[in-house]
Amino acid sequence: MLRRPGGRRSTVAALVGAAAVGLTGCTSPEPGEQQPAESRPGAPQPDAEPALTDDAAGAEWPDEVRATVETEPVPHGGDAADDPAVWVNPTDPAASAVIGTDKQGGLLVYDLDGQQLQYLPVGEVNNVDVRTAGDRALVVTGNRTDDSIGVYELDPDTRQLRDVAAGRLAPGLEVYGSCLYSSAETGRLFAFVTSKSGRVVQFELVEDGSGRVGGEPVRSFDLDSQIEGCVADDELGHLYVGEEDVGIWRYDAEPDAGDQRTAVAEVSRSGPLVADVEGLTIAAGPDGTGYLIASSQGDDSYAVYRRDGGNEFVTSFRVVDGPDVDGAEDTDGLVAETAPLGPDFPAGVLVVQDGENDDGNQNFKLVPLDRLLAG
Ligand code: CA
Ligand code: CA
Ligand code: CA
Ligand code: CA
Ligand code: CA
Ligand code: CA
Ligand code: CA
Repeated sequence: MLRRPGGRRSTVAALVGAAAVGLTGCTSPEPGEQQPAESRPGAPQPDAEPALTDDAAGAEWPDEVRATVETEPVPHGGDAADDPAVWVNPTDPAASAVIGTDKQGGLLVYDLDGQQLQYLPVGEVNNVDVRTAGDRALVVTGNRTDDSIGVYELDPDTRQLRDVAAGRLAPGLEVYGSCLYSSAETGRLFAFVTSKSGRVVQFELVEDGSGRVGGEPVRSFDLDSQIEGCVADDELGHLYVGEEDVGIWRYDAEPDAGDQRTAVAEVSRSGPLVADVEGLTIAAGPDGTGYLIASSQGDDSYAVYRRDGGNEFVTSFRVVDGPDVDGAEDTDGLVAETAPLGPDFPAGVLVVQDGENDDGNQNFKLVPLDRLLAG
């Protein structure tokens, strides 16, 4: 069932937000203890609402959207494509790039028309993320072939990746998922690496003075079951982790923060979050507003939560078949980029992995974000 936001949402949002704040900083709540939003229909309707973002306040989110572009299929058959990232070209946004993983073989770079620009066969890379460090675009992936963190620099002119890791960067666990955190508070850059065991390692990435990137683990903590997808909110200092059969957790992303956490959402058979929780991404708006979007893999949908406040549930949507591009099913990774990316993606792009491409190996679908957020 897909729900649209309405007056009730904000009421529920306020209530769940208060509950979430109450849980922060004490014992780790199990997601099952969090009151589901749908159990609060009789709650009073306040006149004054906490301010939402301008687009959210009056927006009608669609239940369904269509991709306008799909990438070329990844090189390997079967379950191979996994996770995308978007690099924003600062001088020519329409010439930005999508970086994707083929978890059976390597990294791929595509242009915004979906044309493959590069295939770098570096191993079983699963998740990928990108940040700008100084004036360099760093692409970081978790490589399951040798349980390492791969670091690549994207050349802004050629949009080609080259390995800049200072040797094998070992987080010291069996690698599964990964994401980057560029701290607005300190300027330090970290990779979070997740493992099927439930362990998270935070690994600081440091340029070694010769242009290569090294680093070391600075923090670790454990969840109770399999985790993969993660995303960090650089501006607000949050780390979100998807515990695949359980729900979404929020942690403080700073390395000295410990393991206190807040339950953001729990999985349920009736949705809006149906196991597995897979990819997580942040569609960043101004001043800390925006949305956290999760792949609800079990029902081929995407669950949207507020980025700010208590991460209240907003809506769900699907990416369905369009005239030219098929819809997305069984999505693993996804990424939202809200920077304008030229005339085809004037409000940015949502890129989702498609587990069932209709005309070849798995690939990635590109949805113009104005189709979702402008309403
Ligand atoms: Ca898959
Ligand atoms: Ca990613
Ligand atoms: Ca997974
Ligand atoms: Ca899965
Ligand atoms: Ca995955
Ligand atoms: Ca499809
Ligand atoms: Ca297709």
